[in-house]
Amino acid sequence: MSAQKRPNLLFIMSDDHAAHAISAYGSRINETPHLDRIASNGMRFDSAFCTNSICTPSRAAILTGTYNHVNGATTLDTHLDNTQWTFPQSLQQAGYTTGMIGKWHLGHGPGHDPVGFDFWRVLPGQGHYDNPVMLEADGKVVERGGYVTDLITDDCIDFIDEHKDGPFALFCHHKASHRTWNPAPRHFTLFDDVDLPEPATFHDDHEGRAEVIKSVKMHMMDLDPITDLKALVPEGLSREEEIEWRYQRYIKDDLRVVAAMDEGSGRLLDKLENEGLTDNTIVVYTSDQGFFLGDHGWFDKRLMYEESLGMPLLIQYPDRIRPGSTSDDIVVNVDFGPTLLDLMGVEIPGHVQGRSFAPILDGATPDDWPESMYYRYWMHRDGAHNTPAHYGVRTRTHKLICYYNDPLDQLGANGPADPIEWELFDLVADPQEINNVIADPAYAAIRAELETELARLQNELGDEPYPGAQIQSS
Ligand code: CA
Repeated sequence: MSAQKRPNLLFIMSDDHAAHAISAYGSRINETPHLDRIASNGMRFDSAFCTNSICTPSRAAILTGTYNHVNGATTLDTHLDNTQWTFPQSLQQAGYTTGMIGKWHLGHGPGHDPVGFDFWRVLPGQGHYDNPVMLEADGKVVERGGYVTDLITDDCIDFIDEHKDGPFALFCHHKASHRTWNPAPRHFTLFDDVDLPEPATFHDDHEGRAEVIKSVKMHMMDLDPITDLKALVPEGLSREEEIEWRYQRYIKDDLRVVAAMDEGSGRLLDKLENEGLTDNTIVVYTSDQGFFLGDHGWFDKRLMYEESLGMPLLIQYPDRIRPGSTSDDIVVNVDFGPTLLDLMGVEIPGHVQGRSFAPILDGATPDDWPESMYYRYWMHRDGAHNTPAHYGVRTRTHKLICYYNDPLDQLGANGPADPIEWELFDLVADPQEINNVIADPAYAAIRAELETELARLQNELGDEPYPGAQIQSS
Protein backbone atom coordinates (compact mmCIF):
# COMPACT_ATOMS: atom_id res chain seq x y z
CA MET A 1 0.00 0.00 0.00
CA SER A 2 1.51 3.34 -1.02
CA ALA A 3 1.70 6.19 1.46
CA GLN A 4 -0.94 8.12 -0.49
CA LYS A 5 -3.44 5.28 -0.22
CA ARG A 6 -3.26 4.87 3.53
CA PRO A 7 -6.62 5.82 5.04
CA ASN A 8 -7.00 8.95 7.12
CA LEU A 9 -8.78 8.83 10.46
CA LEU A 10 -11.35 11.25 11.85
CA PHE A 11 -12.22 10.02 15.34
CA ILE A 12 -15.11 12.05 16.78
CA MET A 13 -15.82 11.35 20.44
CA SER A 14 -18.42 13.14 22.48
CA ASP A 15 -18.89 13.07 26.23
CA ASP A 16 -21.88 11.35 27.87
CA HIS A 17 -23.88 11.14 24.62
CA ALA A 18 -26.08 8.06 24.91
CA ALA A 19 -26.96 6.03 21.84
CA HIS A 20 -30.65 6.54 22.55
CA ALA A 21 -30.21 10.26 21.82
CA ILE A 22 -29.18 9.51 18.22
CA SER A 23 -31.90 9.01 15.64
CA ALA A 24 -29.91 6.29 13.84
CA TYR A 25 -30.35 4.31 17.07
CA GLY A 26 -34.10 4.97 17.12
CA SER A 27 -34.19 7.94 19.49
CA ARG A 28 -37.71 8.90 20.61
CA ILE A 29 -36.63 12.38 21.70
CA ASN A 30 -34.39 13.98 19.05
CA GLU A 31 -33.08 13.95 15.49
CA THR A 32 -29.39 13.78 14.61
CA PRO A 33 -29.37 13.95 10.80
CA HIS A 34 -25.59 14.38 10.48
CA LEU A 35 -24.60 11.56 12.81
CA ASP A 36 -27.14 9.46 10.95
CA ARG A 37 -25.09 10.09 7.79
CA ILE A 38 -22.22 8.14 9.35
CA ALA A 39 -24.58 5.27 10.13
CA SER A 40 -26.04 5.22 6.64
CA ASN A 41 -22.58 5.47 5.05
CA GLY A 42 -21.12 2.75 7.25
CA MET A 43 -21.76 0.37 10.14
CA ARG A 44 -23.81 0.88 13.30
CA PHE A 45 -22.77 -1.19 16.31
CA ASP A 46 -25.66 -2.19 18.56
CA SER A 47 -23.60 -3.97 21.24
CA ALA A 48 -20.65 -1.64 21.82
CA PHE A 49 -19.84 -1.30 25.52
CA CYS A 50 -17.47 0.61 27.76
CA THR A 51 -15.47 -1.31 30.35
CA ASN A 52 -15.89 1.42 33.02
CA SER A 53 -18.65 3.97 32.50
CA ILE A 54 -16.95 7.22 33.37
CA CYS A 55 -14.90 9.83 31.50
CA THR A 56 -11.23 9.45 32.42
CA PRO A 57 -11.19 5.63 32.66
CA SER A 58 -12.97 5.15 29.34
CA ARG A 59 -10.68 7.58 27.56
CA ALA A 60 -7.64 5.81 29.01
CA ALA A 61 -9.01 2.42 27.93
CA ILE A 62 -9.57 3.66 24.39
CA LEU A 63 -6.10 5.21 24.00
CA THR A 64 -4.12 2.40 25.66
CA GLY A 65 -6.12 -0.62 24.48
CA THR A 66 -5.95 -1.94 28.04
CA TYR A 67 -8.39 -2.28 30.95
CA ASN A 68 -8.19 0.19 33.83
CA HIS A 69 -6.63 -2.26 36.29
CA VAL A 70 -3.73 -2.41 33.80
CA ASN A 71 -3.48 1.24 32.65
CA GLY A 72 -4.05 2.54 36.20
CA ALA A 73 -6.76 5.12 35.32
CA THR A 74 -9.41 3.45 37.45
CA THR A 75 -11.31 6.55 38.63
CA LEU A 76 -11.91 10.19 37.73
CA ASP A 77 -9.02 11.12 40.02
CA THR A 78 -6.41 8.79 38.52
CA HIS A 79 -4.85 10.55 35.57
CA LEU A 80 -3.21 8.78 32.67
CA ASP A 81 0.49 8.01 33.06
CA ASN A 82 1.56 9.25 29.63
CA THR A 83 4.71 7.13 29.52
CA GLN A 84 2.38 4.29 28.53
CA TRP A 85 1.88 3.25 24.94
CA THR A 86 -1.20 4.68 23.22
CA PHE A 87 -2.38 3.89 19.72
CA PRO A 88 -1.97 7.46 18.39
CA GLN A 89 1.75 7.12 19.18
CA SER A 90 1.97 4.15 16.84
CA LEU A 91 0.13 6.10 14.15
CA GLN A 92 2.54 8.99 14.52
CA GLN A 93 5.54 6.64 14.36
CA ALA A 94 4.05 5.06 11.23
CA GLY A 95 4.10 8.44 9.50
CA TYR A 96 0.65 9.78 10.24
CA THR A 97 0.24 13.45 11.13
CA THR A 98 -1.71 13.27 14.38
CA GLY A 99 -3.92 15.84 16.10
CA MET A 100 -5.90 15.95 19.35
CA ILE A 101 -8.43 18.76 19.69
CA GLY A 102 -10.99 19.22 22.47
CA LYS A 103 -11.58 17.39 25.72
CA TRP A 104 -8.64 15.40 27.04
CA HIS A 105 -9.56 14.87 30.70
CA LEU A 106 -6.61 12.61 31.43
CA GLY A 107 -4.63 15.09 33.50
CA HIS A 108 -2.22 17.91 32.66
CA GLY A 109 1.49 18.56 33.07
CA PRO A 110 4.61 16.62 32.10
CA GLY A 111 3.32 13.22 33.28
CA HIS A 112 -0.16 13.51 31.81
CA ASP A 113 -0.20 15.85 28.79
CA PRO A 114 -1.13 14.36 25.41
CA VAL A 115 1.73 12.36 23.86
CA GLY A 116 1.91 11.10 20.29
CA PHE A 117 0.33 14.13 18.66
CA ASP A 118 1.97 16.54 16.22
CA PHE A 119 -0.59 19.10 17.33
CA TRP A 120 -2.79 19.23 20.39
CA ARG A 121 -5.15 21.86 21.76
CA VAL A 122 -7.22 20.66 24.71
CA LEU A 123 -9.62 21.94 27.32
CA PRO A 124 -8.28 22.15 30.86
CA GLY A 125 -10.14 19.47 32.84
CA GLN A 126 -13.81 19.63 31.93
CA GLY A 127 -13.39 23.01 30.25
CA HIS A 128 -16.19 25.51 29.70
CA TYR A 129 -19.03 25.65 27.20
CA ASP A 130 -18.71 29.39 26.60
CA ASN A 131 -15.50 31.22 25.69
CA PRO A 132 -13.36 28.24 26.69
CA VAL A 133 -9.64 28.55 27.37
CA MET A 134 -7.62 25.82 25.66
CA LEU A 135 -4.12 24.52 26.29
CA GLU A 136 -1.34 23.60 23.87
CA ALA A 137 2.16 22.18 24.17
CA ASP A 138 4.83 24.17 26.01
CA GLY A 139 2.30 25.82 28.28
CA LYS A 140 0.64 27.88 25.54
CA VAL A 141 -2.84 29.10 26.47
CA VAL A 142 -5.38 29.93 23.74
CA GLU A 143 -8.20 32.33 24.65
CA ARG A 144 -11.05 32.94 22.22
CA GLY A 145 -14.68 33.89 22.36
CA GLY A 146 -17.24 31.41 21.15
CA TYR A 147 -19.10 28.20 21.85
CA VAL A 148 -16.96 25.20 22.67
CA THR A 149 -18.45 22.75 20.17
CA ASP A 150 -18.14 25.25 17.33
CA LEU A 151 -14.55 26.17 18.23
CA ILE A 152 -13.47 22.51 18.39
CA THR A 153 -15.16 21.90 15.05
CA ASP A 154 -13.47 24.97 13.51
CA ASP A 155 -10.07 23.81 14.75
CA CYS A 156 -10.65 20.33 13.33
CA ILE A 157 -11.63 21.73 9.93
CA ASP A 158 -8.43 23.81 9.95
CA PHE A 159 -6.41 20.70 10.81
CA ILE A 160 -7.95 18.73 7.95
CA ASP A 161 -7.32 21.63 5.61
CA GLU A 162 -3.68 21.83 6.61
CA HIS A 163 -3.08 18.08 6.35
CA LYS A 164 -5.45 17.07 3.56
CA ASP A 165 -2.60 15.61 1.54
CA GLY A 166 -2.44 13.03 4.30
CA PRO A 167 -2.24 10.66 5.82
CA PHE A 168 -3.65 12.20 9.00
CA ALA A 169 -5.28 10.95 12.18
CA LEU A 170 -7.43 13.56 13.89
CA PHE A 171 -9.11 13.15 17.27
CA CYS A 172 -12.06 15.53 17.68
CA HIS A 173 -13.11 15.22 21.31
CA HIS A 174 -16.17 17.23 22.25
CA LYS A 175 -16.98 18.52 25.70
CA ALA A 176 -20.64 18.14 24.79
CA SER A 177 -22.91 16.69 25.93
CA HIS A 178 -21.53 16.69 29.50
CA ARG A 179 -23.29 18.25 32.47
CA THR A 180 -24.16 21.20 32.87
CA TRP A 181 -25.61 21.08 29.33
CA ASN A 182 -25.19 24.73 28.24
CA PRO A 183 -26.57 25.17 24.71
CA ALA A 184 -25.37 27.49 21.98
CA PRO A 185 -27.57 30.60 21.72
CA ARG A 186 -28.99 29.42 18.38
CA HIS A 187 -30.46 26.39 20.18
CA PHE A 188 -31.90 28.17 23.22
CA THR A 189 -35.48 27.75 22.04
CA LEU A 190 -35.19 24.32 20.39
CA PHE A 191 -37.92 22.04 21.88
CA ASP A 192 -39.59 25.02 23.57
CA ASP A 193 -42.97 24.16 22.14
CA VAL A 194 -43.00 20.43 22.93
CA ASP A 195 -43.08 18.12 25.92
CA LEU A 196 -40.52 15.39 25.34
CA PRO A 197 -41.63 11.85 26.20
CA GLU A 198 -40.37 10.32 29.42
CA PRO A 199 -38.59 6.98 29.12
CA ALA A 200 -40.53 3.80 29.94
CA THR A 201 -38.59 3.30 33.19
CA PHE A 202 -38.87 6.93 34.34
CA HIS A 203 -40.91 5.97 37.41
CA ASP A 204 -38.78 2.93 38.33
CA ASP A 205 -38.87 2.55 42.14
CA HIS A 206 -35.78 0.25 42.09
CA GLU A 207 -37.70 -2.40 44.02
CA GLY A 208 -35.80 -5.70 44.15
CA ARG A 209 -32.51 -4.15 43.04
CA ALA A 210 -29.37 -3.98 45.22
CA GLU A 211 -29.73 -1.74 48.28
CA VAL A 212 -26.77 0.42 47.14
CA ILE A 213 -28.67 1.25 43.95
CA LYS A 214 -31.47 2.84 45.92
CA SER A 215 -29.21 5.54 47.41
CA VAL A 216 -27.40 6.79 44.29
CA LYS A 217 -27.68 10.54 43.79
CA MET A 218 -28.64 10.52 40.13
CA HIS A 219 -32.35 11.16 40.44
CA MET A 220 -34.07 14.14 38.80
CA MET A 221 -34.38 15.55 42.33
CA ASP A 222 -30.57 15.51 42.62
CA LEU A 223 -30.12 17.97 39.74
CA ASP A 224 -29.18 21.47 40.87
CA PRO A 225 -31.92 23.91 39.83
CA ILE A 226 -29.57 26.81 39.25
CA THR A 227 -26.52 25.25 37.59
CA ASP A 228 -28.15 22.25 35.88
CA LEU A 229 -31.67 23.46 35.16
CA LYS A 230 -30.93 27.22 34.97
CA ALA A 231 -34.18 28.08 36.70
CA LEU A 232 -35.94 28.21 40.03
CA VAL A 233 -38.36 25.39 40.73
CA PRO A 234 -41.89 26.82 40.28
CA GLU A 235 -43.82 27.09 43.51
CA GLY A 236 -46.80 24.90 44.23
CA LEU A 237 -45.72 21.77 42.36
CA SER A 238 -46.32 18.35 43.85
CA ARG A 239 -43.23 16.10 44.06
CA GLU A 240 -44.43 14.21 41.01
CA GLU A 241 -45.01 17.42 39.07
CA GLU A 242 -41.59 18.72 40.09
CA ILE A 243 -39.87 15.54 38.88
CA GLU A 244 -41.61 15.89 35.53
CA TRP A 245 -40.72 19.60 35.33
CA ARG A 246 -37.09 18.81 36.15
CA TYR A 247 -36.95 16.15 33.44
CA GLN A 248 -38.14 18.59 30.76
CA ARG A 249 -35.64 21.25 31.84
CA TYR A 250 -32.80 18.74 31.93
CA ILE A 251 -33.44 16.70 28.79
CA LYS A 252 -34.09 19.70 26.54
CA ASP A 253 -30.74 21.32 27.39
CA ASP A 254 -28.97 17.98 26.95
CA LEU A 255 -30.48 17.58 23.48
CA ARG A 256 -29.80 21.22 22.54
CA VAL A 257 -26.15 20.60 23.29
CA VAL A 258 -26.29 17.43 21.17
CA ALA A 259 -27.77 19.47 18.31
CA ALA A 260 -24.65 21.66 18.05
CA MET A 261 -22.46 18.58 18.03
CA ASP A 262 -24.56 17.00 15.32
CA GLU A 263 -24.20 20.15 13.21
CA GLY A 264 -20.44 20.19 13.82
CA SER A 265 -20.16 16.57 12.74
CA GLY A 266 -22.01 17.50 9.56
CA ARG A 267 -19.52 20.29 8.87
CA LEU A 268 -16.64 17.84 9.29
CA LEU A 269 -18.26 15.33 6.94
CA ASP A 270 -18.84 18.13 4.42
CA LYS A 271 -15.19 19.16 4.68
CA LEU A 272 -14.06 15.62 3.89
CA GLU A 273 -16.51 15.49 0.99
CA ASN A 274 -15.40 18.85 -0.41
CA GLU A 275 -11.76 17.77 -0.29
CA GLY A 276 -12.49 14.43 -1.97
CA LEU A 277 -11.38 12.59 1.17
CA THR A 278 -14.58 10.72 2.06
CA ASP A 279 -13.79 7.36 0.46
CA ASN A 280 -10.34 7.07 1.99
CA THR A 281 -11.10 8.38 5.48
CA ILE A 282 -12.25 6.26 8.40
CA VAL A 283 -14.82 8.28 10.35
CA VAL A 284 -15.70 7.07 13.84
CA TYR A 285 -18.43 8.54 16.01
CA THR A 286 -18.59 7.41 19.61
CA SER A 287 -18.97 8.71 23.14
CA ASP A 288 -16.85 7.87 26.18
CA GLN A 289 -19.86 6.05 27.66
CA GLY A 290 -23.63 6.06 27.67
CA PHE A 291 -25.96 8.02 29.92
CA PHE A 292 -29.28 7.71 31.72
CA LEU A 293 -31.71 10.09 30.00
CA GLY A 294 -34.31 9.84 32.74
CA ASP A 295 -34.10 6.05 32.45
CA HIS A 296 -34.78 4.46 35.85
CA GLY A 297 -35.51 8.02 37.01
CA TRP A 298 -31.84 8.99 36.66
CA PHE A 299 -29.33 11.18 34.87
CA ASP A 300 -25.58 10.34 34.79
CA LYS A 301 -23.81 7.03 34.13
CA ARG A 302 -21.34 4.88 36.19
CA LEU A 303 -23.65 1.87 36.64
CA MET A 304 -23.56 -1.28 34.53
CA TYR A 305 -27.16 -0.92 33.36
CA GLU A 306 -27.66 -0.84 29.61
CA GLU A 307 -28.14 2.90 29.05
CA SER A 308 -24.84 3.68 30.79
CA LEU A 309 -22.86 0.62 29.66
CA GLY A 310 -23.67 1.05 25.99
CA MET A 311 -21.63 3.34 23.73
CA PRO A 312 -22.84 4.73 20.43
CA LEU A 313 -20.44 3.47 17.76
CA LEU A 314 -20.80 4.44 14.11
CA ILE A 315 -17.97 3.84 11.63
CA GLN A 316 -17.83 4.79 7.96
CA TYR A 317 -15.04 3.93 5.54
CA PRO A 318 -16.53 3.67 2.07
CA ASP A 319 -13.47 1.97 0.61
CA ARG A 320 -14.07 -0.97 2.93
CA ILE A 321 -17.33 -0.93 4.97
CA ARG A 322 -20.69 -1.70 3.37
CA PRO A 323 -23.05 1.30 3.75
CA GLY A 324 -26.05 0.92 6.03
CA SER A 325 -24.73 -2.19 7.75
CA THR A 326 -25.22 -3.10 11.42
CA SER A 327 -23.58 -5.46 13.87
CA ASP A 328 -24.74 -6.86 17.19
CA ASP A 329 -21.38 -8.46 17.95
CA ILE A 330 -20.05 -7.48 21.37
CA VAL A 331 -17.21 -4.97 21.05
CA VAL A 332 -15.66 -2.91 23.87
CA ASN A 333 -13.74 0.34 24.10
CA VAL A 334 -10.35 -1.37 24.52
CA ASP A 335 -10.91 -2.86 21.04
CA PHE A 336 -11.09 0.54 19.34
CA GLY A 337 -7.33 1.21 19.16
CA PRO A 338 -6.27 -2.18 17.81
CA THR A 339 -9.13 -2.08 15.29
CA LEU A 340 -8.05 1.29 13.92
CA LEU A 341 -4.39 0.26 13.77
CA ASP A 342 -5.46 -2.85 11.88
CA LEU A 343 -7.54 -0.84 9.38
CA MET A 344 -4.67 1.62 8.93
CA GLY A 345 -2.05 -1.07 8.40
CA VAL A 346 -0.08 -0.40 11.58
CA GLU A 347 1.21 -3.16 13.84
CA ILE A 348 -0.68 -3.89 17.09
CA PRO A 349 1.72 -4.38 20.03
CA GLY A 350 1.45 -7.71 21.81
CA HIS A 351 0.61 -6.24 25.23
CA VAL A 352 -2.66 -4.72 23.99
CA GLN A 353 -5.69 -6.42 25.57
CA GLY A 354 -8.26 -5.31 23.03
CA ARG A 355 -8.81 -7.19 19.80
CA SER A 356 -9.28 -5.81 16.31
CA PHE A 357 -12.86 -6.04 15.07
CA ALA A 358 -11.84 -5.11 11.51
CA PRO A 359 -13.18 -8.51 10.32
CA ILE A 360 -16.62 -7.50 11.67
CA LEU A 361 -16.42 -4.28 9.64
CA ASP A 362 -15.68 -6.51 6.64
CA GLY A 363 -18.87 -8.45 7.39
CA ALA A 364 -17.04 -11.59 8.51
CA THR A 365 -17.27 -12.04 12.30
CA PRO A 366 -14.60 -14.53 13.40
CA ASP A 367 -15.97 -17.84 14.77
CA ASP A 368 -14.18 -17.28 18.06
CA TRP A 369 -15.38 -13.69 18.59
CA PRO A 370 -16.23 -13.08 22.31
CA GLU A 371 -19.79 -13.70 23.47
CA SER A 372 -19.32 -11.76 26.72
CA MET A 373 -17.65 -8.64 28.12
CA TYR A 374 -16.15 -7.61 31.46
CA TYR A 375 -16.98 -4.39 33.31
CA ARG A 376 -15.60 -2.75 36.44
CA TYR A 377 -16.43 0.56 38.16
CA TRP A 378 -14.07 1.36 41.01
CA MET A 379 -15.24 4.66 42.47
CA HIS A 380 -17.17 3.47 45.53
CA ARG A 381 -19.40 6.10 47.18
CA ASP A 382 -17.93 8.82 44.97
CA GLY A 383 -18.66 12.22 46.43
CA ALA A 384 -21.07 13.52 43.82
CA HIS A 385 -23.26 10.53 42.98
CA ASN A 386 -22.78 7.99 45.78
CA THR A 387 -22.46 5.12 43.30
CA PRO A 388 -21.23 1.67 44.38
CA ALA A 389 -18.05 -0.15 43.30
CA HIS A 390 -19.02 -3.13 41.19
CA TYR A 391 -17.95 -5.52 38.46
CA GLY A 392 -19.80 -7.89 36.24
CA VAL A 393 -20.24 -9.78 33.03
CA ARG A 394 -22.66 -9.17 30.17
CA THR A 395 -23.44 -11.80 27.57
CA ARG A 396 -25.83 -11.46 24.63
CA THR A 397 -28.69 -12.62 26.88
CA HIS A 398 -27.84 -11.97 30.54
CA LYS A 399 -26.00 -9.69 32.92
CA LEU A 400 -24.51 -10.56 36.31
CA ILE A 401 -23.38 -7.70 38.55
CA CYS A 402 -21.42 -8.02 41.79
CA TYR A 403 -21.59 -4.90 43.94
CA TYR A 404 -18.49 -5.66 45.99
CA ASN A 405 -18.94 -2.21 47.55
CA ASP A 406 -15.42 -1.51 48.75
CA PRO A 407 -13.36 1.65 48.01
CA LEU A 408 -10.13 -0.41 48.02
CA ASP A 409 -8.05 2.74 48.59
CA GLN A 410 -8.87 4.01 45.09
CA LEU A 411 -8.51 7.77 44.60
CA GLY A 412 -11.93 9.40 44.69
CA ALA A 413 -13.57 6.33 46.26
CA ASN A 414 -14.89 6.53 49.81
CA GLY A 415 -15.52 4.12 52.64
CA PRO A 416 -16.63 2.37 54.61
CA ALA A 417 -17.30 -0.76 52.61
CA ASP A 418 -20.90 -1.94 52.28
CA PRO A 419 -22.05 -5.59 52.27
CA ILE A 420 -21.61 -7.44 48.95
CA GLU A 421 -24.77 -7.58 46.82
CA TRP A 422 -25.57 -9.22 43.47
CA GLU A 423 -27.94 -8.60 40.60
CA LEU A 424 -28.86 -10.83 37.68
CA PHE A 425 -30.92 -9.69 34.69
CA ASP A 426 -32.45 -11.68 31.86
CA LEU A 427 -31.93 -9.22 29.02
CA VAL A 428 -34.21 -11.15 26.67
CA ALA A 429 -37.24 -11.35 28.99
CA ASP A 430 -36.47 -8.08 30.78
CA PRO A 431 -34.45 -5.72 28.54
CA GLN A 432 -35.25 -2.78 30.82
CA GLU A 433 -33.54 -4.49 33.80
CA ILE A 434 -36.43 -4.13 36.21
CA ASN A 435 -36.50 -7.68 37.59
CA ASN A 436 -33.43 -8.74 39.54
CA VAL A 437 -33.63 -12.56 39.37
CA ILE A 438 -30.50 -13.27 41.41
CA ALA A 439 -32.47 -15.24 44.03
CA ASP A 440 -34.88 -16.92 41.59
CA PRO A 441 -34.28 -20.71 41.64
CA ALA A 442 -35.26 -20.87 37.98
CA TYR A 443 -32.06 -18.93 37.19
CA ALA A 444 -29.68 -20.94 39.39
CA ALA A 445 -28.01 -22.66 36.44
CA ILE A 446 -27.68 -19.38 34.50
CA ARG A 447 -26.21 -17.72 37.56
CA ALA A 448 -23.63 -20.47 37.97
CA GLU A 449 -22.66 -20.18 34.29
CA LEU A 450 -22.26 -16.41 34.56
CA GLU A 451 -20.20 -16.66 37.74
CA THR A 452 -17.89 -19.06 35.96
CA GLU A 453 -17.67 -16.73 32.95
CA LEU A 454 -16.95 -13.74 35.22
CA ALA A 455 -14.12 -15.63 36.90
CA ARG A 456 -12.78 -16.73 33.52
CA LEU A 457 -12.73 -13.14 32.22
CA GLN A 458 -11.03 -11.83 35.36
CA ASN A 459 -8.40 -14.52 35.04
CA GLU A 460 -7.89 -13.88 31.32
CA LEU A 461 -7.61 -10.11 31.81
CA GLY A 462 -5.52 -10.32 34.96
CA ASP A 463 -7.98 -8.60 37.30
CA GLU A 464 -8.44 -9.69 40.91
CA PRO A 465 -11.79 -11.03 42.16
CA TYR A 466 -12.93 -9.27 45.31
CA PRO A 467 -12.21 -11.45 48.37
CA GLY A 468 -15.44 -13.07 49.48
CA ALA A 469 -17.15 -12.44 46.14
CA GLN A 470 -16.13 -15.71 44.56
CA ILE A 471 -18.61 -18.28 43.33
CA GLN A 472 -21.76 -18.01 45.45
CA SER A 473 -23.91 -20.77 44.01
CA SER A 474 -21.56 -23.73 44.26
CA1 CA B 1 -18.09 11.06 29.97
